[in-house]
Amino acid sequence: MEVRVRYAPSPTGNQHIGGVRTALFNYLFARSTGGKFILRLEDTDRSRYAEEYVGNLYDTFKWLGFYWDEGPDIGGPSGPYIQSERFDSYREHAKRLIAAGGAYYCFCDEDRLAKMRAAQAEGKTEEQGYDRHCRNIPAAEAAARVASGEKAVIRLKIPLEGSTAFHDLLLGDIEWKNEDVSPDPVLLKSDGFPTYHLANVVDDHLMRITHVMRAQEWLPSAPMHMIMYAAFGWEPPLLCHLPMVLGQDGHKLSKRHGATSVNEFRKAGYLPEALINYVAHLGCSYEDGRDLFPLADLEKLFRVERINKAPAIFDYQKLEWYNGQYIRQKSDKELCDLVMPHLLESGLFAGADGPGVRTLLEAAMPLVRERLHFLADAPAMLGYLIQEPPTAPPGEFIPKKLDAARAAAMLDAAAALLPKCDLGDVPAAEILFRSEAERLGAKLGDLLLPLRVAVTGSRVSPPLFESMALLGLRRCLERIARARAVLG
Ligand code: GLU
Ligand code: ZN
Repeated sequence: MEVRVRYAPSPTGNQHIGGVRTALFNYLFARSTGGKFILRLEDTDRSRYAEEYVGNLYDTFKWLGFYWDEGPDIGGPSGPYIQSERFDSYREHAKRLIAAGGAYYCFCDEDRLAKMRAAQAEGKTEEQGYDRHCRNIPAAEAAARVASGEKAVIRLKIPLEGSTAFHDLLLGDIEWKNEDVSPDPVLLKSDGFPTYHLANVVDDHLMRITHVMRAQEWLPSAPMHMIMYAAFGWEPPLLCHLPMVLGQDGHKLSKRHGATSVNEFRKAGYLPEALINYVAHLGCSYEDGRDLFPLADLEKLFRVERINKAPAIFDYQKLEWYNGQYIRQKSDKELCDLVMPHLLESGLFAGADGPGVRTLLEAAMPLVRERLHFLADAPAMLGYLIQEPPTAPPGEFIPKKLDAARAAAMLDAAAALLPKCDLGDVPAAEILFRSEAERLGAKLGDLLLPLRVAVTGSRVSPPLFESMALLGLRRCLERIARARAVLG
């Protein structure tokens, strides 16, 4: 049997970590078993639907770099893959279920349902949810009322007694008392729109989905779906409800914990490789003693048996670590391409010349590769190579235990020494500075600190001599002169 799995998002928000985890696990499962991964848009909730969320979905997965085998944008044998284009099928199936005795028309209007709910809220009745008022209307009578134009929804008949049992690949055997299943959920609304339950089950069947792997919050829907499969006389897919993703405080991962939408991670300068690698580990393990897995390896190693039952804790620091690892693997050119959008966005290039800057930046990548945690750190780290840095306040130039006069003397000494150095030979230049410091009776650090602040605008910067080599002697001396003026 060919494995067919799906990711079935509702375009009611931007793609977030939880959704990507579900999509990725389905994708990896399909790849590891030689099966198919399908994207289906569950856009039946038109009130919360927005076109931009569909755009965000495609953007996100193009950026992440793993894709479906069948879906709305690329087609496939089970299309259309957008639920709003399948409404006829849902209507027809809902009627089929009525004919089979598994569903019924309900004519209760909003007014009656509101009164029912109010009575339940006041505790006048034990019942919760729909009171099954229309369940026993004789079929012929109901059909006649519908034919005469009376408004009706179609509801699923949940058995009144007994229980519904199913097996979850991860959670094991589950048994749900039917009296605890939501009483007779609506399948088809009076405007002919399907609810999630109907559309989801019908599509999983018609698209020949073999495994439903989805977030654990959908578990309460499972008995309802199983009852529907039975009523249709269909064999249900196998279920696998994935562990929750929690923040460090044990609460469901949310905005409060930090970035959750993929867009935010992307803007902050995470690499897709890092995000994939980390998300793949949210509740699943691969090979012991190893952290870095290219997607191709995950595709081979993924096993349902290695998914954990326990909730996964989202650890931003671990993700950051992954990001640093992947940044380190990039070549100068690749890394330069990656930081470029962030540099552009920061406005650093205003007035800077194009091609020369690109060469300079690419040459600067070895200076920052080990220090970058996020691509978005690049503008702050590299700005001094592109623009003249703002001159620091005088205090910044003064090494610990020294005063302004001494700092100025250090800067003068550095300015005098620089033209004698071959900046292309960093070790040799360092030796010259070291002996100059000795001659001045100062520490090397005291000689270099004012120089660093003058050249880079900051006490913390990428390596100084390499930076000066990139900037060239003339620009360095200009910056020193400007700093000198501030120091007085
Ligand atoms: N449309 C549902 C969602 O937004 C799909 C749930 C499922 O996978 O069954 O997650
Ligand atoms: Zn009713």
